[in-house]
Amino acid sequence: MSDRDDLAREATELLQRLIGFNTVNPPGNEREAQEYLAAHLNEAGFQCELLGAEAQRPNLLARLPAEGTSRPQSGAQVRPESAAHGSADGEGPTLCYLGHVDTVLADSEKWSHDPWSGAVEDGFLWGRGALDMKSQVAAEIAAAASLARSGWRPARGELLVVAVVDEETGGELGAQWITQTHPEKVRCDLLVNEGGGEVFEYGGKRHYGVCCAEKGVFRFTVTTVGVAGHASMPKIGENALLKMAPVLERLAARQPSYELTAEPRAFLAGIGEDPADPEGAIAHMQAEDARLVTMFEPMFGVTFTPTRIRASEKINVIPSSAELKVDCRVPPGLGEAEVRRAITEVLGDEADEGWRIDFTERIAGNRSPVHSPLMDTISEWIGERDPGAEVVPVILPGFTDSRHFREAFPECLAYGFFPQKHQSMFEVAPLIHGADERIDVRDLAFAAEFFRDLALRVLG
Ligand SMILES: [Zn+2]
Repeated sequence: MSDRDDLAREATELLQRLIGFNTVNPPGNEREAQEYLAAHLNEAGFQCELLGAEAQRPNLLARLPAEGTSRPQSGAQVRPESAAHGSADGEGPTLCYLGHVDTVLADSEKWSHDPWSGAVEDGFLWGRGALDMKSQVAAEIAAAASLARSGWRPARGELLVVAVVDEETGGELGAQWITQTHPEKVRCDLLVNEGGGEVFEYGGKRHYGVCCAEKGVFRFTVTTVGVAGHASMPKIGENALLKMAPVLERLAARQPSYELTAEPRAFLAGIGEDPADPEGAIAHMQAEDARLVTMFEPMFGVTFTPTRIRASEKINVIPSSAELKVDCRVPPGLGEAEVRRAITEVLGDEADEGWRIDFTERIAGNRSPVHSPLMDTISEWIGERDPGAEVVPVILPGFTDSRHFREAFPECLAYGFFPQKHQSMFEVAPLIHGADERIDVRDLAFAAEFFRDLALRVLG
């Protein structure tokens, strides 16, 4: 058995065990899973700690400091090479592997395998969390534990493994809590989390997306006002719901104009398109595979998706007001001014049109630089392990726990990357939060090797 086989087996077993712990959030109940992971890392030589706001929902922090140091940043030698990967203290970076162990629910009726079985069949490992994201947690921890067990210690800096709870409902008890209440324990220079890494083909070439940025959320309500009356006489009163018809028509007809930030420009250049002509690029993608447009177009600007509408409380009353909720996502770097401009562009001027806009959420997205030594290291590794393939930066239309880390530690470089070579982006996307979630076991091994090699390259 080679080291590679051992690592693959360790990652597979970890994932099977992890899937066996039901951590559907709510309620989460992640403690047992976290204790299992802590024991695994502790046995290998990591210093582990479980810290949480609630007893049943602790976060796991595990550290492997540099050779000859018992505490992080307490006497690690200054090494000139560490400059390549940056660090807050000049003593070598803290490289953090982040993951969450909670999952969304699963309706067993719709699955062909028990969602908590962790069965390996037909080359896939099945179960809730097999992609999002117990697989990445298992790959990260298998890599970290096997390195520590072999006697390896960072020559500089520190390897930090953080497995949080409560991501699927926003991270209040997980990443948000730990970065706000114990920042000194999770401060890191480099962070690798979920959000990217599945292969996709374009223009005859293979690409791996590295998630560098996550969009913000600026949700708003459109309100129309009328006059109530008895529904038996349509012309009595003034129907606020009908005034919503042009709003919906406009939202159905188009999205706001593209507003390309640094990430989609680099993405377009990376896939061989002209960053100055996003419309042309979208046309080419449409011609090659329409799913590419679905996945990537949201990176290009502000998007509007109406999701809820409410008018009269009673079937026989003409509504005097109607409310439409719009889920609006905004690239990092853009904010309310750009959203207001986009609203005017798509819906018309608020004052002239007679409806009212109220923002209900204003959370700016955040980002890490597209170019960095960490990106170069990831890119080199992909070049070696999948010759001819390239990495490209992407923006996640949603968001992950990386946002909390970037917010808490502005110097922290956070990327989403979990390389999957065999199961493509198109195969993975519908399985996340869906039925029959499963991972190609070869990809689990591939990712575990990535996490092992990355620690060796960054920390020496
Ligand atoms: Zn996730």
